[in-house]
Amino acid sequence: ASGSDENDVVVIGGGPGGYVAAIKASQLGLKTTCIEKRGTLGGTCLNVGCIPSKALLHSSHMYHEAKHAFANHGVKVSSVEVDLAAMMAQKDKAVSNLTKGIEGLFKKNKVNYVKGYGKFVSPSEVSVDTVDGGNTVVKGKHIIIATGSDVKSLPGVTIDEKKIVSSTGALALTEIPKRLVVIGAGYIGLEMGSVWGRLGSEVTVVEFASEIVPTMDAEIRKQFQRSLQKQGMKFQLKTKVVGVDTSGDGVKLTLEPAAGGDQTTLETDVVLVSAGRTPFTAGLGLDKIGVETDKIGRILVNERFATNVSGVYAIGDVIPGPMLAHKAEEDGVACVEYIAGKVGHVDYDKVPGVVYTTPEVAYVGKTEEQVKELGVEYRVGKFPFMANSRAKAIDNADGLVKILAEKETDKILGVHIMAPNAGELIHEAAIALQYDASSEDIARVCHAHPTMSEAVKEAAMATYDKPIHI
Ligand code: FAD
Repeated sequence: ASGSDENDVVVIGGGPGGYVAAIKASQLGLKTTCIEKRGTLGGTCLNVGCIPSKALLHSSHMYHEAKHAFANHGVKVSSVEVDLAAMMAQKDKAVSNLTKGIEGLFKKNKVNYVKGYGKFVSPSEVSVDTVDGGNTVVKGKHIIIATGSDVKSLPGVTIDEKKIVSSTGALALTEIPKRLVVIGAGYIGLEMGSVWGRLGSEVTVVEFASEIVPTMDAEIRKQFQRSLQKQGMKFQLKTKVVGVDTSGDGVKLTLEPAAGGDQTTLETDVVLVSAGRTPFTAGLGLDKIGVETDKIGRILVNERFATNVSGVYAIGDVIPGPMLAHKAEEDGVACVEYIAGKVGHVDYDKVPGVVYTTPEVAYVGKTEEQVKELGVEYRVGKFPFMANSRAKAIDNADGLVKILAEKETDKILGVHIMAPNAGELIHEAAIALQYDASSEDIARVCHAHPTMSEAVKEAAMATYDKPIHI
């Protein structure tokens, strides 16, 4: 179908921001077209991000558990081996099932889907070079830019997706490297480092800053780093990469202390560059219509996701805010609600963050450092999983729940969880924060026994009173 008839809404980009916006717009009765250049829907998240990484994290975790944990539970396995090709095939199957699923949702919701590269010719017209070699012009009253982000490169480090890989290459290695160096200790680097570490690689994480995952509460971060180190991950913090030599069999990195000083070398087989992501607007023709961006190329929008150009909006990774799939989805829904004359809202202070390693770390709201900066008096309630009966029953008790609440009102300010399933546990905290709940509100909710969630209840009790089980 060509998109040449006028649409109410045209979305450029079919990632979690774009495809969700398109479906929502159609559900609200707006005639909608979504343009995607990749050939499949779901964007970075589904094709080369959230989904394939979680598939490999799960598969590698199963292998690691079979090798190292089953025996503790009286389950004997005689030989445990990795079939990397089969592991990759399961990941690819998960991705392709889900991308096709979104095409199905487009059909169901009557979203017109144009496969090709979109480029503004005016604020209401997008010229699309279609994947089959043609060209079509798609017109719309409202155009939403949802073009997402791309891997940020490091000066002097050329990604070849073989020896020097981005996260995309790290999701598709054909051999388990003996040694892997990860540049950048953000969540993507730690997740991919965990995958290959579990499968047998010696993993060293090199990070310029003095700490890993800068958005994390410092106390949780320390315990998290210790846990990763116990699993064999090595860290070289406050270190910068100043040279890369790929002329030999492997890769020779030249490192230097971040503050300057003597250089050292580090030899490895594969290097993963995961030093952040950058907004993607190449070839979109933003200059042509005069859309404003900031210094790092993010599109500037107001609280209705409108850019400075009338009728043009932007959502997701291409605008400021947490670069996360669920945030992009929320943006998409709120943006379309405004276009349809309703009211939308996204609170970036209440977007949960999850690192899907073992243990997982999940958080929502403020860190203790942020609360201190605010200058509010606060209380901290903590509960370790060592004292949680379910965690002990399953022999998986590394971690804790930490709740920060305002001293005077007991209002919850932030919740931080390190646990095997922290990414699932965090949502009662997200709801509590959304409804301005106090920690006593959580503590007085009956939680089922025996569950890991009881640790959230007990941490809540510990902020204004005493927990029972410690
Ligand atoms: P994108 O998903 O980047 O989608 C943009 C789409 O627009 C792309 O498909 C692109 O091809 C298309 N496009 C761009 N320009 C044009 C054009 N001119 N014409 C047509 N199409 C165009 N987030 C989480 O929340 N949880 C996770 O566990 C998680 N894991 C991740 C793991 C990895 C390895 C990576 C790399 C990212 C991960 N993320 C995760 C981040 C998440 O993928 C992004 O935040 C999310 O995809 C942003 O959504 P988006 O719709 O803004 O952009």
